[in-house]
Amino acid sequence: MISNYAKDLKLHNSLTGKKEKFLPIDKNNVGMYVCGPTVYNNAHLGNCRTFISFDLIYRYLIHLGYNVRYVRNLTDVGHLENDDDNGEDKVSKKARLENIEPMEVVQKYTLDFHNTLKKLNTIPPSIEPSATGHIIEQIESIKQILESGFAYEKNGSVYFDILKFNKSKTYGKLSGRKIEEMLNQSRSLDGSSDKKNPQDFALWKKAEKNHIMFWDSPWGKGFPGWHLECTSMSKKYLGNYFDIHGGGIDLKFPHHDCEIAQSEAIDGNNPAKFWMHTNMLTLNGKKMSKSIENFILPNEVFNGNNEILSKSFSPNVVKFFIYQAHYRSVLDLSNDALLASEKGFKKLMSGFVLISQLDHNDKASDFDVDVWISKCYSKMNDDFNTPMLIAELFDCIKFINNVNINAKNLNTNDKEKLITTFNNLLFNVLGFNEEVEDSKKSNSSDELISLLIKIRNQARSNKDFKLSDQIRDDLLKIGVQLNDEQNSSSYKLI
Ligand SMILES: [Zn+2]
Repeated sequence: MISNYAKDLKLHNSLTGKKEKFLPIDKNNVGMYVCGPTVYNNAHLGNCRTFISFDLIYRYLIHLGYNVRYVRNLTDVGHLENDDDNGEDKVSKKARLENIEPMEVVQKYTLDFHNTLKKLNTIPPSIEPSATGHIIEQIESIKQILESGFAYEKNGSVYFDILKFNKSKTYGKLSGRKIEEMLNQSRSLDGSSDKKNPQDFALWKKAEKNHIMFWDSPWGKGFPGWHLECTSMSKKYLGNYFDIHGGGIDLKFPHHDCEIAQSEAIDGNNPAKFWMHTNMLTLNGKKMSKSIENFILPNEVFNGNNEILSKSFSPNVVKFFIYQAHYRSVLDLSNDALLASEKGFKKLMSGFVLISQLDHNDKASDFDVDVWISKCYSKMNDDFNTPMLIAELFDCIKFINNVNINAKNLNTNDKEKLITTFNNLLFNVLGFNEEVEDSKKSNSSDELISLLIKIRNQARSNKDFKLSDQIRDDLLKIGVQLNDEQNSSSYKLI
């Protein structure tokens, strides 16, 4: 059964730049494709923001009653270091540097990616196809693009002919980039390139002598271009036209514009009705990126093992922090922001725990629970506006706290509705881990550690170094590392 709330859902479509009503192509079924990670290193927290955001979207669509087929790929070949088809393949390079098989690289970082997303309590996609597992499909796609006349073969490589495509169709629909501007901005080709024009992109690259990942093809030994896998795999599992295609904002160009061009060359379809893009997570005001050494790994946050952090933060707190911004806004990570999120998350959870303990009666409630519920859903229906949803949850918690001190009245029926709605929104939609008891435990262990630090500080000021050292060493034995500053100590869990 599709929920009544479903008819009011609006999504921001990157293709039109507008919020549009969401109606699936096939009544009760939704097809969603999200570009997954290139598995050659540990996903940083900026990468995870994208996958947490699409997990929220996946969860909400399921909650509304849709059958959702969620496809998220793993890129394990073909992603080169530079966007203009230059540089080494990222997976091959890592394998060469570590002197291991490319598939060992893929296995190692796929496991890390899955472990991290599991800690963040995201639901695995319905299908997680890999590029190397779909070489046959990609070769077929290239044949189709060659047949349509929008690609050419040169010296064992095949390139997409953007100028020719742009004569009858439009390249750059998502990014809004004009082909003339691209022509002016791009570097001219050096004599060694096989491309007709610098904007053309590789569908198939010939394997040079030292290349370690290659397959046979009608054009000789080589490997597929990065943009192609998403076209071939989305078509295979979701068809030529599906509901949602998503990814991080940095994939809009060139990756997604190339995907649209490939798909239009094959069957004339822009493959997705809705294109959705999540914004960046910044660190120190700058984009989180491995290449500029400005990033933080999820495990570093969960363990408190990074110099910018004063302590560890749970995956629930990290999610709460991410939800406090809309997925299309830039969000900046800092220790203070995480501390504030931790406080907020604890307040939210204690409010939720309190509901079942509240007194209730048959008199009318001093809070319109039905209006509040529809407000919560209207925030989610407004392009998944989590910060506004969280504000609504806190509005209700204010009322709950007032009922707790007998300043407001709660009706028995409304109490049941509150419990159901909080359960649905907190755990099914926002996907927090139901570790309320655990969070209580961690609250009390935080308090105990703080108490021990206080006693130790007293010992230090009394020059009782034997006691202060013993507290420090014993805490370390149970995985709590103290960091002494002039008058205080911070700690992290190791
Ligand atoms: Zn992709």
